[in-house]
Amino acid sequence: MQEAIVEMEEDIVIVGGGIAGLTTALGLHRLGLRSLVLESSESLRITGFALTLWTNAWRALDALGIGNSLRAHYPPFPRFRVGSSVPSEIESPDKDGGYEGRCVRRKELLETLEREFPHGTIRYSSKVVSIEDTGYHKLLHLADGSTLKTKVLIGCDGVNSLVAKWLGLQKPVYSGRSAIRGFVEYPDGHGLQPRLHAYFQGGVRYGYVPCGDKYLYWFCTYSSSLQHDEDMKENPAEMKQFVLSKISQLPQEALAVVELTELDSISCSPLKLRLPWTLLLGNICKGNVCVSGDALHPMTPDIGQGGCSALEDGVILARCLAEALLKKPRDEIQNEEEENARIEKGLEKFAKERRWRSFSLISAAYVVGFIQERDGKVMSFLKEKFLSQFTVSCVLKMADFHCGELNISGSVAGFRCFLLFQDFGMSWQLVLLSYMAFAFYPERNCALEMEEVPGVNPQLGIQCFGMVISYPSVTLLIDMEIVERAVVLVLIGPIMQLLEMLNAGLL
Ligand SMILES: Cc1cc2nc3c(=O)[nH]c(=O)nc-3n(C[C@H](O)[C@H](O)[C@H](O)COP(=O)(O)OP(=O)(O)OC[C@H]3O[C@@H](n4cnc5c(N)ncnc54)[C@H](O)[C@@H]3O)c2cc1C
Repeated sequence: MQEAIVEMEEDIVIVGGGIAGLTTALGLHRLGLRSLVLESSESLRITGFALTLWTNAWRALDALGIGNSLRAHYPPFPRFRVGSSVPSEIESPDKDGGYEGRCVRRKELLETLEREFPHGTIRYSSKVVSIEDTGYHKLLHLADGSTLKTKVLIGCDGVNSLVAKWLGLQKPVYSGRSAIRGFVEYPDGHGLQPRLHAYFQGGVRYGYVPCGDKYLYWFCTYSSSLQHDEDMKENPAEMKQFVLSKISQLPQEALAVVELTELDSISCSPLKLRLPWTLLLGNICKGNVCVSGDALHPMTPDIGQGGCSALEDGVILARCLAEALLKKPRDEIQNEEEENARIEKGLEKFAKERRWRSFSLISAAYVVGFIQERDGKVMSFLKEKFLSQFTVSCVLKMADFHCGELNISGSVAGFRCFLLFQDFGMSWQLVLLSYMAFAFYPERNCALEMEEVPGVNPQLGIQCFGMVISYPSVTLLIDMEIVERAVVLVLIGPIMQLLEMLNAGLL
């Protein structure tokens, strides 16, 4: 076989210039690391018109330094109107509780990200078609025949990710549901209150939300088949009729939003997800390659978290990689082997931080979608009485995540547990306890640092653990990781306490 001619060499290459790719590139740029983004489209690819960005996304945008410039154009929506044809008004927690929800145009989000990094960071019309392993480097083959060599490869290439496939992650599956989305412009202003409206009835979930003063974004998800989507894909008039037929019982205001939508502002997409348990054992990273955004955790849009969590990913990945590469001055890194080991460590840290978070986001989105689109008398009754509130609190709970700041000292918001071990071998209970403390609240960025510090009281671990379990916002429902870990905790916790007391000579 003829050997490929390597035309370019870049330290860090990101495949895909969507939300995840651009966030990662900007995060790295902020931390002083250059990267190259390869995007297959000719320009920024904007599908889906708009998206709701929740608290976690705004925290990530703030870390990147672009939160306020976006806030200026998109007012928050402090209320929800959720339910069947007669929805209940739900007040979201006040802003002091940290809640923030705004609907943002995708185009503006991507352009704002792009504006922040140096010219030439994104290479358009650059589709990666295969990946080759060459020791410490990866060789990327592009559709135009060119090749590129890199020390770090980050796959932000969306739901059908080539990089995820290379890592051996299982392919995302079709959820049996689809979404039709639309965007309406009101040149003189829509005059609506800043509220998110969501209706569940007749087996569909339909909602709309103001996106600034002059636009409304709407969505409709429903049970479907790939064939149905294929038939409808090129026919927005049919999509519009379909949605109108499904929401005919709703108030006139809700119908008017769809009626006013131009046909070139309607699109349809099948909803896919990665089976969450395949992420628990699968490779999020391997050597100097990892995935992020939809390439890592494609999920159904029921809790509006795909884009938000891609922003989280970007900040965390940039921090992990920069921590690994920059903590020691780069000119002091001895050789390629040491550099590669650092890269691997950084990516492993990212994978560890994101595995359970990805698992719970995909699971929560699936369960919420399942409940919302179920019909029947019992389900409708439950939805009417309890589930509207439940849905809103689930959305808010999953959004209550802080990705931390963009600095490589590793300081994160939330809290950290510093566990200091006098003797690693003797305090195995502490290792287990602190592992659980760490695992119990990944969404709080509870980080674990183990150091051997002679003379430090190992009881500190117990205190940290106490702090974790007494942390106030324990919610057992939906959050699969907490349910699972709570079981482990109930079984192992008391045994460990006993062992610790024995150790201390108290029994
Ligand atoms: C109906 C619906 C509603 C949604 N609503 C919300 C919401 O309200 N809030 C929210 O947070 N999220 C929402 N999402 C999810 C959100 O849109 C996605 O999670 C987010 O866009 C993922 O970003 P990404 O960068 O990971 O992937 P993508 O946006 O898919 O970007 C991947 C990029 O990689 C490029 N690419 C792919 N393969 C290659 C290759 N081989 N070589 C080079 N480039 C390549 C693509 O061209 C693309 O630009 C919704 C999704 C849907 C379907």
